[in-house]
Amino acid sequence: MKPSRPETPPPADAEARRAVAPVICYPVETLPQPDLALYRRAAAGMEKTGEVLVPPRAARCFEVPAGHIFRIRSVEGAQVGDLNLWNAADLSERFYSGKTRALHGTHLSTGDRMWSSFPGLRPMATITRDTLDWYGFDSFGGAVHDVIGTRCDPYTHNLLSGGQYHHCCHSNLTRALAAETGLPLDQAEAHVHDVLNVFMCTGFTRDTGQYFMKASPVRPGDYLEFFAEIDLLGALSACPGGDCSSEHSSDAAACYPLLVETFRPADGALDGWAPPAVNGYDRSHGM
Ligand SMILES: [Zn+2]
Repeated sequence: MKPSRPETPPPADAEARRAVAPVICYPVETLPQPDLALYRRAAAGMEKTGEVLVPPRAARCFEVPAGHIFRIRSVEGAQVGDLNLWNAADLSERFYSGKTRALHGTHLSTGDRMWSSFPGLRPMATITRDTLDWYGFDSFGGAVHDVIGTRCDPYTHNLLSGGQYHHCCHSNLTRALAAETGLPLDQAEAHVHDVLNVFMCTGFTRDTGQYFMKASPVRPGDYLEFFAEIDLLGALSACPGGDCSSEHSSDAAACYPLLVETFRPADGALDGWAPPAVNGYDRSHGM
């Protein structure tokens, strides 16, 4: 049992200490800003190049060349998706959920970017449209498209509930990446990483700071649109939690497919644009 907290009496100046104003950890004024006007001109005349339907409680991979656009679309019913992104030419460069959260906050929307792992630390994709941007933060502190959860996985499920459940997003992404690349399952699993929780509505409880979820406000037709900054391999899992209103890591929830659509930009729309270079740090680490 945990002791009842607090065990430690507050100091005399506790209130003064609590009253110190916070500062933003990473002021984003110096962050390279996306040229949304350029991306939207590219999207205005775009042509669809393909689509992948992700079945419920499964994941599928998709490729998007740099400068192309992709959309994750709700079809049939409210459904949450767990998104992984890799550099298509080097799986070791992958989406870095934690740093993206530190830069943009707990939930992403239009103009925010999905940043890659060290040493690349560059934008992999920029969100260019979000039909759920009307939601904002609700009275519980919930919002959509979070980078605070990780992905539902069979290890945590085993820890909390026992048993073997094989259709958590972690396993779905692992199977999809193994099928796409031909890697053995254990090697594919090592490339699966913390996700962007597409359409999921989440937050932290105000009193205990616990991660919560609630029914996604997504409706069929809603979509999240991305501009691919580099050549991408993506994988999307249609979470076994469905709209994540009650539970995940089981087959209890109603689940629906998700659609990934890819598009080529209008000819000449990106003239002068180039994919972002890897991060400028020299990696000598003071040696
Ligand atoms: Zn999941």
